[in-house]
Amino acid sequence: MSVRKVAIVTGSNKGIGFSTVQGLCEKFDGDVYLTARDIDRGQAAIAALNKLGFNPLFHQLDITDQISIDKFRDHLKSKHGGIDVLVNNAAIAFKVDSTEPFNVQAKETIRVNYFSTLKVCEALFPLLRQNGRVVNVSSSAGHLLRIPSEELKTKFNSKSLNIASLNQLMEKFVKDAEAGKHVEEGWGTSAYVVSKVGLTALSFIQQRLFNSESPNRNIAVNAVHPGYVDTDMTSHKGPLTVEEGARAPLFLALESDLKGTYVWFDKSVKAW
Ligand code: NDP
Repeated sequence: MSVRKVAIVTGSNKGIGFSTVQGLCEKFDGDVYLTARDIDRGQAAIAALNKLGFNPLFHQLDITDQISIDKFRDHLKSKHGGIDVLVNNAAIAFKVDSTEPFNVQAKETIRVNYFSTLKVCEALFPLLRQNGRVVNVSSSAGHLLRIPSEELKTKFNSKSLNIASLNQLMEKFVKDAEAGKHVEEGWGTSAYVVSKVGLTALSFIQQRLFNSESPNRNIAVNAVHPGYVDTDMTSHKGPLTVEEGARAPLFLALESDLKGTYVWFDKSVKAW
C-alpha cells in the first residue's frame, strides 16, 4: 500500500475542477485523482494534462451514484489506505433559459449539488487522515443573504443545525417547489442558490462535528466561492480564468489553516 498523500477533486474533467487538479499536480506532494462521471471525458482530461507534463491518476466517480462512490472509496482504501485532500467541486446549474419546470430543476439541483456531495462526504470522510483538508466548492450564490426569508436565514445560521435538520430544510425546499410555494415560503427563485446555501451550511456543520468528535485529527472543512469564472457552467461569461478560479480552492487545500469558514476567490474570509 502506498504511503504517499492523496488528493481528490470531484467533477474534474473540465472547468475549475480540471484546473484544481492541474494546480495540485504542480504543488501537492502526493498522488492527485482527477475524477469524472464519464470515463471518456475523464481520460481526455488526463491526456490533456499528460501533454502538459502532469500525471494525475484517474477514477470514475459519478457523485449521484452510490455504487460509483462506493467503488471509488473501496479503491482508495485498498490502494492508499487513506486520503488527505478532498475537493467537492462537481455540481450542476440549469441555464437561465432552461425550459425544465422549476420543480424539476429544484429536485435535480438539490439532489446533485447538496445530497450527492453529502453522500461523497459520508463515504470518504472516514478515510481522511490526520490534518486532512476538505474544500466544498460553494458559490457567492451560497451566501445566506441570498435567502429572502428571515426565518429560514435564522434556521440555516443556527449553531444547533445538524445534518438531519439541514437535510429536512433541503427536502422542504423541494416539496415547496413541487407545490409551487417556494417564493411564498421564502426560498426565492433560484434552486442553485438554495443548493449552495445548503452546501455552505453543511461545511460549517461538518467542521463542528470534526471538532467535537475527533479534535485530534485536525481536519479542516471550508466552503469557497471560486469567483465568477469562464466555464461551461457560466456559458463562458465569467471574467476569471479557470486558473484564477482554482486559486482559492488550492489555497484551502494546500496552504491555509482556516477551519469552518466561507472563503472568497481573493482568499478573504466572508461573514456568512
Ligand atoms: P463546469 O460545468 O465547467 O464543470 C462542472 C464539473 O462537474 C464537470 O466536470 C461535470 O462533469 C461535473 N459534474 C456534474 N455532475 C456530476 C456528477 N453527477 N458526478 C460527477 N461530476 C459531475 O462548472 P465550473 O467549473 O464552472 O464549476 C465548478 C464548481 O464551481 C461548481 O461547484 C460550481 O457550482 C462552482 N462555481 C462556479 C462558478 C463559476 O463562475 N464558474 C461560480 C461559483 C461557483 P461533466 O463534464 O460530465 O458534465
